[in-house]
Amino acid sequence: MTDTMLKTKNSGDIFRIVYALKQCTRQQISVQLSLSLPTVTHNLKQLIEQGLVYNAGAHQSTGGRKANLYRCVANSRLALGIDITKHHLSLVLINLNLEIVDKKRIRCVFCDSDSYFENMSRELQDILSKNHVNDGRLLGVGISMPAIINSDQKSISYAEVIQVGENIYERMAGHITYPFLLFNDANSAGLAESWISDTSNDMTYLFLGGSVGGAHMTGKQIQYGSNQRGGEFGHMCIAPGGNLCYCGQKGCLDAYCSAKILSDFTGGNLGAFFEELKAGENLGYRRIFDQYMNNLALAVKNLRMCYDSDIVLGGAVGSYMSDYIDEFRNKVAALDPFEKEMDFIRVCHYKTEAAAVGSAIYYINAFIEGL
Ligand SMILES: [Zn+2]
Repeated sequence: MTDTMLKTKNSGDIFRIVYALKQCTRQQISVQLSLSLPTVTHNLKQLIEQGLVYNAGAHQSTGGRKANLYRCVANSRLALGIDITKHHLSLVLINLNLEIVDKKRIRCVFCDSDSYFENMSRELQDILSKNHVNDGRLLGVGISMPAIINSDQKSISYAEVIQVGENIYERMAGHITYPFLLFNDANSAGLAESWISDTSNDMTYLFLGGSVGGAHMTGKQIQYGSNQRGGEFGHMCIAPGGNLCYCGQKGCLDAYCSAKILSDFTGGNLGAFFEELKAGENLGYRRIFDQYMNNLALAVKNLRMCYDSDIVLGGAVGSYMSDYIDEFRNKVAALDPFEKEMDFIRVCHYKTEAAAVGSAIYYINAFIEGL
């Protein structure tokens, strides 16, 4: 390794330590990376000049002496995530700390057409202009959608929930002037939950939205499988010969646990379903939800048997599960042969914006790893 390469590597390693620890002293960096204090000081100075790190002052006492703490400048780089669903378009601008700088969600029926992409491009430009992101701080745009995306992150191998034609990437490129890539929505949402989580435990994310999907993460990285179809939990069979799934098979989890299973009873409005459920006046809603949770418990139990990991309930239904999580854990506990402590089952952190955040994380990760 040449001197220049070594210096660049040191600088990147130091930034990654500051980023991972949220804040740290020169001494901590020196110990973690086995670098001399002068080398650390020199690199920190450069990172400060580049606007990537700042000195947050002396906050901590170490052996009587106060040491300066260094933090990364969260807004020094930003990434935009766009989530396309059948009926909505969500845009989320995040910074390096995954904090949401701005977001917008509009009702907009998907149609694979120039006018749709033009509208998307206008919304994208609006959110960037509004937040004065015109100075090269934007790392890229991640676009998530309910489709299986090939590993080139540009072509689509399967899409049933929305109808997309071939070469969608090329046609979008006619309207988007920034670097952008395509991502599966449920994978992206899972990645967002795993990055925002405090633990580094393996995580299985179950997306309970208009369709059912998910992702499995180890070390905060998605396990895509051989064909990018890892985490297609919606097509696990939970009832042989059961209800018809949109994939053409019978008994898939999607046919029992998509948000529609609940929202169909309240005119497509999931919020209204949970309001009725809370009001408790109509026992029919209670029975429907009980049956829904029974089916979901079966899926969660199966996922726990496969992965032995934390399990996060996400998507539209996941964001309403906080009030029912104890009851749900009891249902899973009744099925689990090994354990009765169900703390590994959690409710999602993000509500509607998880997929958009996750697709933007791709660019944050690439920036941090590439320094
Ligand atoms: Zn299916």
